Amino acid sequence: MSALQSVSGKSHAAGAETYDVVVVGAGFAGMYMLHKLRGLGLSARVYEQGGDVGGTWYWNRYPGARCDVESMQYSYSFSDELQEEWDWSERYAPQPEILKYANHVADRFKLRPDIQLNTRVDRAAFDEGSNCWSVTTSDGKTVTAKYVVLATGCLSNARMPDIKGLAGFRGKVYHTGHWPHEPVDFKGQRVAVIGTGSSAIQSVPVIAEQASHLTVFQRTANFSIPARNAALTVEERNAFRANYPEIRRFAREVARNGIYTEMPDRGALDDGDNERRSKYESRWTRGGLTFMMAYNNLALDKAANDTAANFVREKIAEIVKDPQTAKLLQPNNHPIGSKRICVDTDYFATFNRPNVTLVDIKSNPIEEILPNAVRAGGKDYAVDALVLATGFDAMTGSVAKIDIRGRNGQTLNQKWAEGPKTYLGLMSAGFPNLFIITGPGSPSVLSNMIVSIEQHVDWITDCIAYMRDRHLDTMEAKREAEDNWVAHVNEVAQGTLYPQANSWYMGANIPGKPQIFMPYIGGVGVYRQICNDVAAKDYEGFAMSVPERTQKLAASS
Ligand code: NAP
Repeated sequence: MSALQSVSGKSHAAGAETYDVVVVGAGFAGMYMLHKLRGLGLSARVYEQGGDVGGTWYWNRYPGARCDVESMQYSYSFSDELQEEWDWSERYAPQPEILKYANHVADRFKLRPDIQLNTRVDRAAFDEGSNCWSVTTSDGKTVTAKYVVLATGCLSNARMPDIKGLAGFRGKVYHTGHWPHEPVDFKGQRVAVIGTGSSAIQSVPVIAEQASHLTVFQRTANFSIPARNAALTVEERNAFRANYPEIRRFAREVARNGIYTEMPDRGALDDGDNERRSKYESRWTRGGLTFMMAYNNLALDKAANDTAANFVREKIAEIVKDPQTAKLLQPNNHPIGSKRICVDTDYFATFNRPNVTLVDIKSNPIEEILPNAVRAGGKDYAVDALVLATGFDAMTGSVAKIDIRGRNGQTLNQKWAEGPKTYLGLMSAGFPNLFIITGPGSPSVLSNMIVSIEQHVDWITDCIAYMRDRHLDTMEAKREAEDNWVAHVNEVAQGTLYPQANSWYMGANIPGKPQIFMPYIGGVGVYRQICNDVAAKDYEGFAMSVPERTQKLAASS
């Protein structure tokens, strides 16, 4: 009997395996959650639908896939030993290396025995009699657990576009978010890539080198900054390690996006043209996401944002030789950064290759996919293979696939029909003892994910320990606290330029999905402080209950 069962004293359906905690997903969030739960002496079962650990890095193995946060920062900070022993080879780690790291973590911390692979969680229902969750998996089993933690990832539900004729295409169809495990060789093939988000921007230059011809179908041009990827030297790694305590502290507490970098102290319009240009030039030369940290008002002030957007548009025009193609590649319908900014290696230069064609499907939409061609604007583009880089049902998509039933049988999908509602992105009212890691309403996808994952896992662990120490039975968000938080998340977003873009942050990429800015944009440092304050005030805004047995004892004494 585990620590929690002995406290709660509940009995469960005969024969059902019982755990203190069921964790859904064995990516970076699920693995660290398991490690921490073990530290509390709790029993936990992790279900993972993939064939191995790694989450997003298990699925997204398309050509050129690599992280857009520098590897020395996109790594766990919870173990000094792990930090010391793992040597990242490049400034931006390629997908295979990140997957290797995930596997190393699973082995090093002996996590595998509690992870069941190739198993989807189909259903989770809260039983108001026992105050436990009943969790049904794709292997037909049902287990019970006091807590359920959704570590399902924000960009895990790959989205197939609804294009006429797609099912009848005779060649191979690939989705970047669901790439096969066998090597894919496009040598000698005519390839089409549909979509021009981060996944396409990384894969297009690599596919162009293999394919006999590559046609890129672009609906919306995107801003992208050169990665300037390079091998990491021993000296660079050591310099990072020497400063790790400060780098990690800064990323957690100060940086808005969980990435250590110099913080700008002025707005873009505070500098004259020459000075501003030289600042952008130096950020462009350095490369990477921190381009947007050149000034402190790029996400807030359209005129300031225009200066950065114009700089990048000019760069595109310098790189791309054909003026018409350059014009098409220059984003013109959203502020820079309001869609997730991309980081690339030679993306724009790839369009100078003779074997690459850009097709503007904004003005000439794809009408149909034929067995051997893509028809757009009345023209047929002959292709042998199709790469769909069409993105994800982000933030809510993976959670929505699970039939989650809380109090009174209400499903989470019913509750979120008009947009996700959470308190702090961690819990949703009416769903007791159900935690979400990096859920909507938390900084999540606007941050270095591992920083946000570690913060949530630590907070959830402390919370479960708090409940155990006080013999508490359930915890859930109060409606009023949740409503106030949802309003706050919206209000902060409305003060920025983000809602001006039709982005997946807004749910705008999924037809019919409610358009609400889902992540919390207040910054990871501010958010962490809010979460810590809530915990320090005995989990203010959350309702906690004692077991019925304790209530009865109290009433009779
Ligand atoms: P995405 O940003 O959502 O891009 C999807 C692309 O497909 C967009 O260009 C979209 O056009 C297009 N599209 C969607 N449906 C279409 C349709 N029916 N017809 C034609 N075009 C269609 O998806 P993603 O590139 O996979 O990236 C998603 C997120 O994952 C990124 O923003 C990033 O946060 C993360 N990511 C990170 C990395 C990294 O760390 N380096 C790499 C890849 C992805 P519209 O814009 O017009 O909708």
